[in-house]
Amino acid sequence: MTPPRKLYVKSFGCQMNVYDSHRMADMLAPEGFAETVHLGDADLIILNTCHIREKAADKVYSELGRVGALKSAAAREGRRVTIAVAGCVAQAEGEEIVRRAPVVDLVLGPQSYHRLPELLARAEREGAVVDTEFPVEDKFDVLKAPSREAIRARGVSAFVTVQEGCDKFCTFCVVPYTRGAEVSRPVMKIVAEVERLADAGVREVTLIGQNVNAYHGEGPDGASWTLGRLLERVADVPGIARLRYTTSHPCDMDASLIAAHRDLPGLMPYLHLPVQSGSDYVLKRMNRRHTRAAYLEAIARMRTAQPKMAFSSDFIVGFPGEREEDFRATLSLVDEVGYANAFSFKYSPRPGTPAADMPNQIPEAVKSERLQRLQAALNRHQAAFNAQCRGRTFDVLFEKPGRYPGQIVGRSPYLQPVQVMGPKTTIGHIAAVKVTEIGANSLFGALEESAAGVEPMLMEA
Ligand code: SF4
Repeated sequence: MTPPRKLYVKSFGCQMNVYDSHRMADMLAPEGFAETVHLGDADLIILNTCHIREKAADKVYSELGRVGALKSAAAREGRRVTIAVAGCVAQAEGEEIVRRAPVVDLVLGPQSYHRLPELLARAEREGAVVDTEFPVEDKFDVLKAPSREAIRARGVSAFVTVQEGCDKFCTFCVVPYTRGAEVSRPVMKIVAEVERLADAGVREVTLIGQNVNAYHGEGPDGASWTLGRLLERVADVPGIARLRYTTSHPCDMDASLIAAHRDLPGLMPYLHLPVQSGSDYVLKRMNRRHTRAAYLEAIARMRTAQPKMAFSSDFIVGFPGEREEDFRATLSLVDEVGYANAFSFKYSPRPGTPAADMPNQIPEAVKSERLQRLQAALNRHQAAFNAQCRGRTFDVLFEKPGRYPGQIVGRSPYLQPVQVMGPKTTIGHIAAVKVTEIGANSLFGALEESAAGVEPMLMEA
């Protein structure tokens, strides 16, 4: 029997890329590839790239320098290493990648990874291959299901892509160009995937999409279902105790989604709802299609439906034309919502997007100063949110052993890491924890007595 070839996948960026990396590994498993965590052992290296952060393409080229050196060293020992670049930088750069980095054998966009085996075979026969088409076939129909072993190795919490692409065209964002138009998967195909995950021991599923709450997949009745209806159906899958979804757009917070937060105990009371700016002037220039008031109204409706709700968000400071008064509007929105967590960045132009060519680009020093002020406010709110967790009892889904002997780590409903001393057999369980200490990045606490043995062990070591 030929030994399995080794596959090393490095995933950059968002959860959608993590999910895509898993699905690429699933696609290659029947071709005789086994995943390795050691780059130096790999026969096939896939860089699954992200275009969101600043200088994304530069980072990929510098990473290619490193893996290219490995490829040359392997060649000197008579071993062939194949290098593939996937994801959004691959989609945006295309042929340019092979031109600048001839070590690359294959460039494939996010809509092509179900063709990996065929594309690799072509690259071996013909030399470098670039595939950044948006194919007509449904990649989800072609993708291979993960094995039970692969699911178990990935842990008790899993991502499931339900929607891809975006039709919103925010003026700063490349996603509509790299991921294409919005597409939603049919309800029952998602349910089948969740059932398979639950059957292998997954307890928590996060439904993901670039614009997940614009979900409009075909239901079993032939009608178009909303995300709220989909969540209700997925909540019925035996074994699934927790549900989350990300990333949402404020314009798509419809009544069914709000009702789902009211009615589904398994739907976590935590929502990532990017706002980007608190100023209507900037929101309009960003083409966000919502106002500050509409955003705050969505938050208020959520809080009325589910009083335990907490929120996280994304912010961009120094968008072209942002005045001090606009920035202050962002600070006041932060105070009004009181976020539990947030991601904030300085605006940086993405080639090909309308904002990159807008006049009134903001000087770097101003952006840095505003980012500091914003992050100080966000940190203050995060610390206040964490502080009020002290003394409270949360259900925690335990995911893995901690850093110290006897310690185990899980997540609260608000995604905070929670560390306790407890038996390893609690991993894979949801158990009640009383929070006793607040750390910089984690909560610390003790298992409540009733936690021992409350649920059957689903994950095997
Ligand atoms: S809604 Fe999100 S993914 Fe779509 S264009 Fe705007 S920022 Fe990008």
